[in-house]
Amino acid sequence: MKPTCSLSLDLDNLWSYLKTHGEAGWDVYPSYLRIVVPRVLKFLAERNLIITFFLVGQDAADPAHAAVLRSITEAGHEVGNHSFHHEPWLHLYSEVEIEDELKRTEEAIETATGIKPTGFRGPGFSHSPTLLNVLARRGYAYDCSTFPTFLGPIARLYYLATAKGLSPEERAKRKKLFGRFTDGFGPLKPFHWATPGGPLLEIPVTTMPLFKIPIHVSYLLYLAGYSRALAKLYWRTALRLCRSTGTGLSLLLHPLDFMGSDDTDRLDFFPAMKRPHAGKLELVGQFFDRLQKDFDCIPMGEHARRIRARLRPPPV
Ligand SMILES: [Zn+2]
Repeated sequence: MKPTCSLSLDLDNLWSYLKTHGEAGWDVYPSYLRIVVPRVLKFLAERNLIITFFLVGQDAADPAHAAVLRSITEAGHEVGNHSFHHEPWLHLYSEVEIEDELKRTEEAIETATGIKPTGFRGPGFSHSPTLLNVLARRGYAYDCSTFPTFLGPIARLYYLATAKGLSPEERAKRKKLFGRFTDGFGPLKPFHWATPGGPLLEIPVTTMPLFKIPIHVSYLLYLAGYSRALAKLYWRTALRLCRSTGTGLSLLLHPLDFMGSDDTDRLDFFPAMKRPHAGKLELVGQFFDRLQKDFDCIPMGEHARRIRARLRPPPV
């Protein structure tokens, strides 16, 4: 039997990227969901893949998105909660604010798609003990907000260096964007958080075993900007290390992995957004060819069920 790889896509929207980057105009909520969602669904259908889409409450609550979001669940995909306001400083929220953030998003997603989410990923990998406690209390089946890499602070420096419009206060909120150096010491394998609200299964975003450097598709595309051969070698090495160390994969996708400069010119502060989408899509397809050859690709909820069958939560 092939080892497991869960696949998830954080459905970040144009406005949420502009907001985090401190760009004007985010507050009228510009959206590319009607472009990218059909494109991703087509890509997945051609490969017989069912994955998890983490939806942002603000988008789910907008009736203009109802049809496009429903097309996700109609195609059989899982939907998860990616917060309401998509603020990577979610770890600074109070318990009451977190409760409200989760509840509003659950309701908006259920209204838009007919399905109540049972999995959560924080924006920008943001999480806190308070958040984990509230997730456990609300009966979430899993959280997947940890990103065990040493490179988070470098990604943050790169990102914020191009964010000219941010005030010192706004910069302070983004102090933990993409995580701390010490996150690199976090486990790659699933585990249970012990919270006052009960145990909560954590499925970390997989980084390269031993080296703890990112291997998600956006990072592979960034490498491919320097050398396609290097990106492919890097990907093969990562998959081989996951297999040899018995690390079940949980691979993260983003809308920008399927988009390019011909879709929008407002996001060219992202490394791979200066290229047209067709070439990127072809390359992503090649990464998937390799992945699907060696791994059984499933949505996160199914991954959580398989983990729970062998990894019992600790006694309270
Ligand atoms: Zn996000």
